[in-house]
Amino acid sequence: VNSEVLTIGTELLLGQILDTNALYLGKKLAEVGVNLYYKTTVGDNIARVKEALGVACNRAELIIITGGLGPTVDDITRQAVAEFTGNELALDGPSLKFIEKRFASRNIQMSDNNKLQAYFPAGSIILENPNGTAPGFIVEYKSKIIAAMPGVPAEMYPMMESGIIPFIIKKMGGSHQVIRSKSLRVIGLGESRVDEKIQDLFRESTNPTIGVYAHADHIEIRLTSKADDDAQAFKLIEGLKQKVYGRLPDNIYGEDEKTLESMTAVVLTEKKLTISTAESCTAGLLAARLTSTAGSSKYYTGGINSYANEAKTGVLGVPENVIRDFGAVSQECAASMAQRVRLVFKTDIGVSITGIAGPDGGTAVKPVGLVYIGIDISGTVKTYKYIFPGNREGIRNRAAQTALFHLYKELQQAN
Ligand code: ATP
Ligand code: MG
Repeated sequence: VNSEVLTIGTELLLGQILDTNALYLGKKLAEVGVNLYYKTTVGDNIARVKEALGVACNRAELIIITGGLGPTVDDITRQAVAEFTGNELALDGPSLKFIEKRFASRNIQMSDNNKLQAYFPAGSIILENPNGTAPGFIVEYKSKIIAAMPGVPAEMYPMMESGIIPFIIKKMGGSHQVIRSKSLRVIGLGESRVDEKIQDLFRESTNPTIGVYAHADHIEIRLTSKADDDAQAFKLIEGLKQKVYGRLPDNIYGEDEKTLESMTAVVLTEKKLTISTAESCTAGLLAARLTSTAGSSKYYTGGINSYANEAKTGVLGVPENVIRDFGAVSQECAASMAQRVRLVFKTDIGVSITGIAGPDGGTAVKPVGLVYIGIDISGTVKTYKYIFPGNREGIRNRAAQTALFHLYKELQQAN
């Protein structure tokens, strides 16, 4: 089955709201193996909605509409579909009763406009809406199926799940394929390096397929398979997943929604280690991420936001000569910050970040983006030097993310 999604609403065109319905529908249709080749957005205009329906019916068998089912004059979906399919709008008694009851139960006076929401193109199948006033509908037109649902996501999602998807599956003869994905999260390598390492797998894999996507703080490798059921789909994915792990043993830190901080939290908790942070250019970003997971008080003790040099020496206790001889952005300073914070908070681990986030303050020797990370685990200190690309925000985020990455890697070896 080929489908097309039609999201209706002038506010979508004006950029006032994000078309998350189209996003959701794309995902849901893929899950049941329905092809989606086009998504169209149209304003609240009958002529243009009819025109879009004409185009959609020429290239798809299933057209899914969201929006424009409300009671106001700019809600034109019912009218547009009725005119397009050549059906009169007809009152559906049960829907009217349902709407009346909904108003009565909330003790609100129902306006005549709301009655419009009980009118549908003659011959429609009505889809109940337990979460709002506007029911949806399905109408068949010249062997095409047109389904319309409310625009409000909280009303539309359940209607899609319990009304449209079962209808589609029945239409497809009860059997359908599923599409399932698994994401592997990679850090410490750029997109092209990741690509190099799995290029051959990329070429020879057709089911599952492999996709590589760059995100702000990690690279995602997505494995997607098509099969008759979930178990088969995940079995296919598992085989390829093991191969990908083999290619990037040091750089995959988690799967699907797992974040670096949540993975780090697991190791810290398991190994019963405590940690503290000393940050300069990130001024608490690392601390915020280490404490974003519930239960972080088990391992996180505290941090020093030592932004100014006086804070590094006076509060944290970095020796003045370290800053005088090597500068605040130096391997020596990062090492000292990590050592000092570990002693101040009496933790097993101290982590530090010092760098130049820009846009000013860079020199030829110490350019914007230069960041040193220090990690002291039980007295053994390691430092890492990076020159990150990007703007101030990007550099700060990369610095915190990379510190977490090294921390996570080192923790796996720590006792
Ligand atoms: P209602 O009965 O609430 O009026 P409706 O079917 O008429 O529903 P719209 O008037 O088109 O829907 O949209 C109502 C609200 O639903 C919008 O203001 C917006 O917040 C949300 N919405 C509509 N379309 C989308 C979309 N494509 N993606 C995300 N949200 C949407
Ligand atoms: Mg509306």
